[in-house]
Amino acid sequence: MIIKPVPVLQDNYSYLLIDEDTNKAAAIDPVEPAKVLEAFKENGVTPDCILTTHHHWDHAGGNKDAVKSLGNVECYGGDERVEGMTKQLKDKETVKVGNLEVKALATAGHTTGHVSYFVEDTKTGQRAVFTGDCLFSSGCGRLFEGSASQMLHSLDTLANLPDDTKIYFGHEYTRKNLEFAEHVEPDNSDIQKKISWAKATHVTTPSTVENEKLTNPFMRVRSQELRKALLKSGDENLSDADILLKIRKMKDNF
Ligand SMILES: [Zn+2]
Repeated sequence: MIIKPVPVLQDNYSYLLIDEDTNKAAAIDPVEPAKVLEAFKENGVTPDCILTTHHHWDHAGGNKDAVKSLGNVECYGGDERVEGMTKQLKDKETVKVGNLEVKALATAGHTTGHVSYFVEDTKTGQRAVFTGDCLFSSGCGRLFEGSASQMLHSLDTLANLPDDTKIYFGHEYTRKNLEFAEHVEPDNSDIQKKISWAKATHVTTPSTVENEKLTNPFMRVRSQELRKALLKSGDENLSDADILLKIRKMKDNF
């Protein structure tokens, strides 16, 4: 499989997920249909379907036009509020993109109906997940609708994917996220390394599950290093979800 990021709006990413066997491709969050259609043409691939991570306009807002311009393709999502959706997926339900099997993973927290899409190419062993506004590179989405424990559960779902799974996220927030990650854990050398890399890198997508477990404060709520850096005496009884909420509030005001 081949995955092509398509930068859209100010800092969003749409993606093409291409099955090389059949030359068919899915569009993930095609908010600017013209740019995504152009990407299909450039890559010489046939539109197969649309995969929507969540209902926010900067992800789903192009769906109605995209369904038309891509040739009345199926439009998947996990929330009835997703514009233009033709089929709603349940947690762990799978869809085919050419010969690739894509699995919807319920990842609530940013919104209650947020879905991530996991795909594994059984021929090449490549693995990828499209995480929308649930998981970013070294950050996570704001808790607009869900609770901290829902977000914790979602991030655990993603952290439990194989370490080499590539993470294709919905916004280019990496440098800002890393500034905050460094603020939370000033002595984390993996964060320092990633900061140097990100400064010299324009498009930072994709990340990997392995790297997020090392550098993402929201995925590190159980790490002893993070707890040591963040917590004061009296905080011993905080649950993992409490810590996540504490970090989320810090980030909201950072
Ligand atoms: Zn959103």
